Amino acid sequence: MSVIRSASRKRDGAATGAAWHFHSLSTRLMLVTLGFCLVFALCTMALRTWSAWNSGVSEMSADLLLVEQAFQPLLGRAAQEQDRALLRAHVEALASAAPIGKATLTLALDGQPAESIEAVHDGWSPSAWAPVRHVVLRAPSSLDPNGAGESIGTLTLYGDERMLWRRMNDEVLGIGLTQLVQSLLLAGVMMLVCNRLVTGHVRRIARHLAALNPSNLHQPLTLDRVDCGDELTLLVGGVNQLQGNLSDYLQRQQRYENELADHRDHLAEMIQERTRELQAANVQLEALSRTDALTGLANRRHFDAVTQTEFLRAQRTGQPLCLLLCDIDFFKRYNDRYGHAAGDICLRIVANAMRDSLGRAGDLLARIGGEEFAILLPATAEPQARTLADRLCRTVETLRIEHEAAEGVSHVTLSIGVAQLDPTADAGFGLLFRHADQALYLAKGRGRNQVATYRKTAQA
Ligand code: GH3
Ligand code: MG
Ligand code: MG
Repeated sequence: MSVIRSASRKRDGAATGAAWHFHSLSTRLMLVTLGFCLVFALCTMALRTWSAWNSGVSEMSADLLLVEQAFQPLLGRAAQEQDRALLRAHVEALASAAPIGKATLTLALDGQPAESIEAVHDGWSPSAWAPVRHVVLRAPSSLDPNGAGESIGTLTLYGDERMLWRRMNDEVLGIGLTQLVQSLLLAGVMMLVCNRLVTGHVRRIARHLAALNPSNLHQPLTLDRVDCGDELTLLVGGVNQLQGNLSDYLQRQQRYENELADHRDHLAEMIQERTRELQAANVQLEALSRTDALTGLANRRHFDAVTQTEFLRAQRTGQPLCLLLCDIDFFKRYNDRYGHAAGDICLRIVANAMRDSLGRAGDLLARIGGEEFAILLPATAEPQARTLADRLCRTVETLRIEHEAAEGVSHVTLSIGVAQLDPTADAGFGLLFRHADQALYLAKGRGRNQVATYRKTAQA
């Protein structure tokens, strides 16, 4: 996990331009190779040094044997002749030979005390490493000058350790130099090869990936080399495959987004259209809810709403407000005589006639009951209301709608009660309605097909 975090930190650092140390793969490979070669060279040197030391010791032993074999007859004869000067000269000659550091001759002649002659090479010091050759010295045989006779002493030859070190140093120096040059050459070649075969292409891939964006995903990654079908080929193929997949995915995504945007626009248009239809339906519904279905006039609901408004306005402005209650005479008999459907037609005809008789925009004609109509006349005084009521009675009468069941007349007629709002009375619209109803009742009582007006003191 920490490795991943560190890698991502480095990547972020590279992306944001923050400082981080770049280590080339070639350099690292070169350093690793160099390190390995040096370790290998040290091991090899240790082995070769040990081997060189051993062969040096063997060679020195062989040299000691040769020297000993060369000098033994000479020493034997000199000892037999008891020529001490010659013996000393031989021993010093022995000690001066290259591999010998010290030569010791111990004489044990018959009847004489043992005596020792030794010679030392300049600078020689005793050593535990150098070989030592210890031989018994025999007098030469009188019969065979080269044959061995009786023992006359011992000869000890000490090898010179310095010579071993000299040989070994030469060997080690040669090995070390060779290994070092080999290591450097190998590491350099590895670096060059790695740089040419791998890291240069890896850098190219890194640059290509860093420059990728949705608009250039279609540009494939190519490397300037002969395709060897190796790991780099796999990597390039993988990158191009990834680019292709990403490009397809982004195109699909774009297409989906466009389709979604189209759907959204279409949906918004549909919502707007439905909203308009709904608003129109609401307006229609509102109108229907305030309209009488049979006659198309305002219904009782609308009448009640408007009367409240007009009542308050009249009180506020002090202007007169009149109410006409109109009722078709003997309408039950009409229904009984001509049928309910004909009654409906009659109601429509009377309603249209009344509507046509009203000229002012503020006047409200409503069907408030079965065969009952109300007319609200804002800013209208009782005399004008009365005049209008008379005209309405005449209008309906002149329609000449046949009504054989009526009393006194043979056509449909209308009775109307008129009342004006009393601004001094502290009461609501209900009182005006009751007054108009009373006046209507009066008109009915007086024989119908007429108008009656409500008066406070006396009614006319
Ligand atoms: P009056 O002269 O005293 O007003 O008597 P009337 O018969 O007109 O009054 P009444 O209240 O006795 O009868 C009203 C009739 O109106 C009863 C009902 O059958 C009829 N009516 C009410 N609404 C409708 C309707 O929508 N269509 C039809 N065809 N008739 C209706
Ligand atoms: Mg009635
Ligand atoms: Mg009636």
